[in-house]
Amino acid sequence: MKLGDIEFHVVSDGHVLLDGGAMFGVIPRPLWERKMPPDARNRIALSMNCLVIHAGEKRILVETGAGGKMNPKLRDIYGLDGPFLLDGLRALDLRPEDIDIVVNTHLHFDHCGGNTRVEKDQVVPVFPNARYLVQEGEFAHAMRPTERDTASYFQENFATVGAAGQLSLLEGEHTVAPGVELCRVPGHTAHMQCVKLSGGGKTAFFFADLVPTTAHLPLPWIMGYDLYPMTTLENKKRWIPEAIREGWIALFAHDPRVPAAYLRERDGNWESEPLNVD
Ligand SMILES: [Zn+2]
Repeated sequence: MKLGDIEFHVVSDGHVLLDGGAMFGVIPRPLWERKMPPDARNRIALSMNCLVIHAGEKRILVETGAGGKMNPKLRDIYGLDGPFLLDGLRALDLRPEDIDIVVNTHLHFDHCGGNTRVEKDQVVPVFPNARYLVQEGEFAHAMRPTERDTASYFQENFATVGAAGQLSLLEGEHTVAPGVELCRVPGHTAHMQCVKLSGGGKTAFFFADLVPTTAHLPLPWIMGYDLYPMTTLENKKRWIPEAIREGWIALFAHDPRVPAAYLRERDGNWESEPLNVD
C-alpha cells in the first residue's frame, strides 16, 4: 500500500488467544461472542499485526508480536501460533539487519516479544542495527509494573534492548521520518503511542490497543485490560470521528480478519469497510 512516497505492509506475527471477557471489559458475553466466538477455554483468537514501513531510506517496523522466547506452558496458555514475523519480513525481502527503526506502541508482551531472542542462553536484540523507540513513561512503568498488570510485562523483551544501547526513550509526540509520526494516546496504558502515516494526501492510523479490533469500534467496547478506561473512552471519541471525517485508513493491531479498513458512520453507528492493503 502506498501513501505518496511512503509504502507500508501489514505483517502478522501470528495468533494469540486471550480471554474473551478480558478483551471486552463490561460488555456481556452474549454480545461479544456473536462477533468473536470463544474456544472451550473462553479464549478468542486475535492476530498480532505489525507494520513494515518504507519511508525514504528508512525501514521501520511497528510492533514485533509475541516472538519466540515464551516457555511451553505460556505458549499453550496464550495459544501462540504462526505465521511468524520474521517469515513475513523475509517474504518482503527484508532481513532483521535491514530494519533501521523499531516502534513499540507499548511494552505488553504481544507487542514487543519479538524485540529480542535467545542466542546461546543469552537474550539479544533481534534487530541488530535498529533503534527501538518507546515512550519513556511506558518503559519506566514496564520496569516496575503494578500487581494488576505485571503478567503483561516481561523484562527480557525490553530491558536487554536498553542494555545493548539500542533504546531511545521518547517524551510524547515524535516524528520518526517525514510522514511517520508517533502520537501519545493514553488509556490502555498511561503512555501508549499510536502511529500516523501520511503522504500523497492520504493518511493511515495504527490504532494499537485503543481500538484493537473492528469489534471494539462502539464506544463502550473497551478492554478490561485497560488501566485507564475512561481515558480510552475520551480518546476513542477524539480519534475515531477524526478518522471517519478525514477518510483515514484505520489499521488494527489485533483484528484477525480485518487488519485495515475505512471507517464509516451509518445511522449513528461506526462501521468498518475492509480494505486490502497488499
Ligand atoms: Zn496491550
